[in-house]
Amino acid sequence: MTWGQATDAQLMDVLDATCVSLGIPPARGRSIAPSSGTKKSIAPFFEPNYSVRLYVDVKAWRPLGYNLPSNGVAYQACGHIWYDEGQGCLRLENHSENKIYVRLVAGTCFRAECPVCYQKWAAREAGRIEDKFKRLSRNNAEASVPGYGRPVHAVISVPEIDAFLMYNNLDILKDKIYAIAEKVGLKGYCVIFHPYANEKMHEETPEKILIDKSTGDFDLDSLRSYYSKMNKHINFWYVRPHFHIIGYAPRDYDNPENDAFNEDTITRIYNETGYVVKNLGVRDSVRNTAHYQLTHAGVKKGFQTVCWVGDLSNRNYHKMNPLPKFIPKPHTCPECQAELAPVRWDPQAAISAQVFSVDNYSSADGLDLSEPGPSPLEGQREGGYWIDPGGWRYLNRGEKNHSCLVRKPSHR
Ligand SMILES: [Zn+2]
Ligand SMILES: [Zn+2]
Repeated sequence: MTWGQATDAQLMDVLDATCVSLGIPPARGRSIAPSSGTKKSIAPFFEPNYSVRLYVDVKAWRPLGYNLPSNGVAYQACGHIWYDEGQGCLRLENHSENKIYVRLVAGTCFRAECPVCYQKWAAREAGRIEDKFKRLSRNNAEASVPGYGRPVHAVISVPEIDAFLMYNNLDILKDKIYAIAEKVGLKGYCVIFHPYANEKMHEETPEKILIDKSTGDFDLDSLRSYYSKMNKHINFWYVRPHFHIIGYAPRDYDNPENDAFNEDTITRIYNETGYVVKNLGVRDSVRNTAHYQLTHAGVKKGFQTVCWVGDLSNRNYHKMNPLPKFIPKPHTCPECQAELAPVRWDPQAAISAQVFSVDNYSSADGLDLSEPGPSPLEGQREGGYWIDPGGWRYLNRGEKNHSCLVRKPSHR
């Protein structure tokens, strides 16, 4: 049996087996018939009510448990900027204001737990999620795919009785979630697990982050201001496991009997299992939705934050005839659109070139040979700058700037 094809009875068997394996008498094994005539006023469109609210100190790092992004420890070079290096365009002749363009790049480890780099991790992961949808729709990630429709955002919340499964039996919990997702007709999707909830957080994307048109990535300033606003709202978190799903759930509105993702099914699932399914509908932006979900996803050692399931799983994805992987766009000059190349602050290079050229050798006295000053970008933050020309040069053959990718320091 695969979970995709699980019947109600099989689903219940697993639930019971889970309970039994944990020493709990099976509570719901009695009946698998949809409960009839008990129209309770519980609205299964809100997260289930828990009898206790277990607050967690999300700022404390749990070596073996779930953490929220950013509360680990940074590596030494995370966020470090080499002020005399950058990516630049020195083609003065193509720039109107006699300026050159230099982009400072900060070191990043791209780890979710890094307090310095987690924003870049989330932005990069969100971009990867978007790409996977884009390669299928051949258009925007939000566009329709034949036979699948447009991607929707759904949330499945775990009832209190099963919440403990998240600690040591996440696989069991996931199998249940996947079986329920199948029941509401979700055919291919990505899942992001959230162990905790926060009253001030909303299921919807609070605000759009602007896109840097030259690369198609999130704009750095926009990303920064997004986080500084969001972080003000984070205070009390409590245990409330739920799964965010972005994916395809083809609908059949003309034949309601074939349409899986309807309120009757959702109510039935709730009555039988206690799991709450919410359909938050099609997306304005897959990337913004994914990014927002990643910012408070569960991060745990040895556990993948983003999982692909069903027709979008790593095993099945290629059968959907996707476009080949997109090649990342290089940063380009905002004015002349030339591809940026590594540059270095090296004011002495210009001087020695003058000194040693035959014409100027005799007049070296007139040159300023004092110690070259620091890079004019000293103290600036990561980003692109228009600055006065002079002192910057492209790298020579064989030269390399520092890699901005920060790796785990070796302990030897
Ligand atoms: Zn880092
Ligand atoms: Zn340029």
